[in-house]
Amino acid sequence: MANLVLFGPPGAGKGTQSERLIEKYGFIHLSTGDILRGEIKAQTTRGLEAKKLMDAGDLVPDDVVIGMIEHKIETAVGAKGFIFDGFPRTVAQAEALDSALESHGLAIDAMIALAVPDDELRTRLLERGKTSGRADDQNLDKINNRISVYKDETMPVAEFYSGQNKYKGVHGVGSIDSIFSDICSVIEDL
Ligand code: AMP
Repeated sequence: MANLVLFGPPGAGKGTQSERLIEKYGFIHLSTGDILRGEIKAQTTRGLEAKKLMDAGDLVPDDVVIGMIEHKIETAVGAKGFIFDGFPRTVAQAEALDSALESHGLAIDAMIALAVPDDELRTRLLERGKTSGRADDQNLDKINNRISVYKDETMPVAEFYSGQNKYKGVHGVGSIDSIFSDICSVIEDL
């Protein structure tokens, strides 16, 4: 089984596709956004510190998310395979992920990158905001900030994995089923 980074801008469908992939292949799903939202709900110090940044659509500091992921990897060693969703979002996080996996004799096999135009992302996020309860999905300024943070800080992560010949682009517009089937083809060709 493979260890995958599911990559793409906010609203690209990473969460939706992760759910399907877990069901089909039995991956362990590690979403830093979900972990942080869990910490906010539990009112931990880390969650409360992260909340302001998350509500504004800014990134939480690298050391915070790297520490969380290292801990999760340690507690799940022996898993069939991991899907990293929403992580890594900076090159420093990608380097830390490589080291954390390497220390357990593991590596990322592929980055699956969902490509979706900005206008479509805005429409999807505003639609999700009607039911998600997420402050960062409900306001166009915050959504635009998340898209520009993605372009400035996160897109270089794609080059990082291209440099390792692990980048696999998938067109992220169309039916959920057809995108899922494209992702499955990538995984099955690994
Ligand atoms: P997501 O659910 O992946 O859209 O993440 C929601 C928010 O959580 C982001 O806008 C960031 O504020 C924070 N976050 C999630 N993952 C990361 C990460 N890998 N690095 C920094 N901040 C993150």
